[in-house]
Amino acid sequence: MQWKQLTKNNSMEILENFSLKNYNTFGIEAKAKTFVSVHTVSELVTILKVNQHNEKFILGGGSNMLLTQDITALVIHVDLKGKKITKESDDFVWVESQAGENWHELVLWTIDQNFGGLENLSLIPGNVGTTPIQNIGAYGVEIKDTFDSCAAIKIDTQELVTFSKEACQFAYRESIFKNEMKDQFIITSVTFKLTKKNHHFNTSYGAIEAELQKQHISKPSLRAISNAVIAIRQSKLPDPKELGNSGSFFKNPIVLKSDFEQIQQKFPTMPFYEVSETEVKVPAGWLIEQAGFKGKRFGDAGIHKNQALVLVNYGQATGQEILAVARTIQATITAEYGISIETEVNII
Ligand SMILES: Cc1cc2nc3c(=O)[nH]c(=O)nc-3n(C[C@H](O)[C@H](O)[C@H](O)COP(=O)(O)OP(=O)(O)OC[C@H]3O[C@@H](n4cnc5c(N)ncnc54)[C@H](O)[C@@H]3O)c2cc1C
Repeated sequence: MQWKQLTKNNSMEILENFSLKNYNTFGIEAKAKTFVSVHTVSELVTILKVNQHNEKFILGGGSNMLLTQDITALVIHVDLKGKKITKESDDFVWVESQAGENWHELVLWTIDQNFGGLENLSLIPGNVGTTPIQNIGAYGVEIKDTFDSCAAIKIDTQELVTFSKEACQFAYRESIFKNEMKDQFIITSVTFKLTKKNHHFNTSYGAIEAELQKQHISKPSLRAISNAVIAIRQSKLPDPKELGNSGSFFKNPIVLKSDFEQIQQKFPTMPFYEVSETEVKVPAGWLIEQAGFKGKRFGDAGIHKNQALVLVNYGQATGQEILAVARTIQATITAEYGISIETEVNII
């Protein structure tokens, strides 16, 4: 089948040498050799069938990637829309959202319906279909806490597969889609199991409690928690519309307790959180700040002035320039503390 025929028979528009500047929150200028937005699962299957032998690159909201080059693979922008309740019990509701829905809009919609579970994850950029990939998390909650299942198309066979929570192998910013099944599936919808009543309010993490007090709220509600999270995030994180960024650029490193005890002798003030009997997590932002990078600028690439974990594009930085800053930070942290920090953002 020819591309032209495809366009005629579907709502798909196939674009060549397409700028991705408005499709990545870093605001990096990079071109897609060929770009197509898909709006239905059948369009997606068609595109995959006619491109069996071409490399593919899957794009959601572009909020977790650093583009360091033009993309020669076929860029498939997953733009599937819609959400519905698929099941209900006295206490719970199952909400299925298509992959291309904006995450924050879905969160706000669930709050409007008084469905609980997603409120702490308010204002995280990106699309619903991408949330399981790195098991998005914030303020003491991760997507795995409310995740029921997701549907995904296997790229090479176009088979539709359902993944249960167990099958996804969720961990801190990890899932099977970043490991064993990397680049093999396109997630088309995600189903969440949310509370209809007796909501479990998670206010213990971060500054939520303090923010609620500031707003004179003694009895939290889903909306109040969401508003508190939004206020905290807006005060801490740069808005990608104003300053290009991809949120936390690095993951917090997990270190063996036995290694950490030795590191602590040299750096007694280094903060840590226990994650298991044998491991601790160290805040990468602290390491980067201590190493003197916070607020530094290298041309148009830099480290945010309030958040050492966030790398920013002041305007015209290239992906390569931001990557160079990231590599310098990683090398410095390894040399100074003997701790290696991995990127959370996907380097393309
Ligand atoms: C200001 C800011 C704050 C952030 N805060 C947080 C936070 O608190 N917690 C957190 O966890 N993350 C955070 N992030 C990161 C980001 O928002 C999430 O990782 C989000 O889920 C990425 O979604 P996206 O649709 O933009 O993904 P994209 O950047 O489009 O894609 C990310 C990766 O997933 C692949 N992909 C995209 N869609 C699909 C699909 N349907 N099927 C299969 N693969 C796909 C892409 O190829 C790419 O490898 C933040 C980002 C920003 C800019």
